[in-house]
Amino acid sequence: MKLEKYIRDIQDFPKEGILFKDITPMLNNFEARQDFLHVLLQSLENKKIDKVVGIESRGFLFGMLLAQELKAGFVPVRKPNKLPFSTLSASYTLEYGTDTLEIHTDSINPGDKVLIHDDVLATGGTAKAVCELVEKLGGEIVQLNFLMELHFLKGRDKLKNKNIFAAITY
Ligand code: IMP
Repeated sequence: MKLEKYIRDIQDFPKEGILFKDITPMLNNFEARQDFLHVLLQSLENKKIDKVVGIESRGFLFGMLLAQELKAGFVPVRKPNKLPFSTLSASYTLEYGTDTLEIHTDSINPGDKVLIHDDVLATGGTAKAVCELVEKLGGEIVQLNFLMELHFLKGRDKLKNKNIFAAITY
């Protein structure tokens, strides 16, 4: 099994100078999806998970598959003004400016065991903001997992003391 072969490099997307990792060839292949899902589930070693938190938008794809396999709830974290019920927000800095993410206030109960999922761990700013949201609601973060980690962007440095797993590391 070679997971990397299903990920396509796109030069200069969405901006010049960025090498974008495109997961759509993997999404379009049943066996590749199974392989990624299996690797992510294996890393959890049968740990109990109450809620899987998926980050908009590519984090919804495997977030939902993981939640189904783990018999857990699925919680979407979304960009501002997309969630209809009462929300909690966290802002984080980007290269230029800031961004905000939101979660429904009733989506996690204090003490819930939480898995956070996204497609890519880059600088870690997104994942860190989501950790803040989950912890403010009283959730206990069991693991953060990703389809891939861009190790050279040092995302792990922003996520100290967290259990992190990536199916592929670049
Ligand atoms: P970070 O906050 O810098 O860690 O960026 C992570 C977010 O940016 C994730 O939600 C990813 O979906 C997105 N992202 C960053 N780089 C890539 C990439 O090469 N391919 C797909 N998504 C990316």
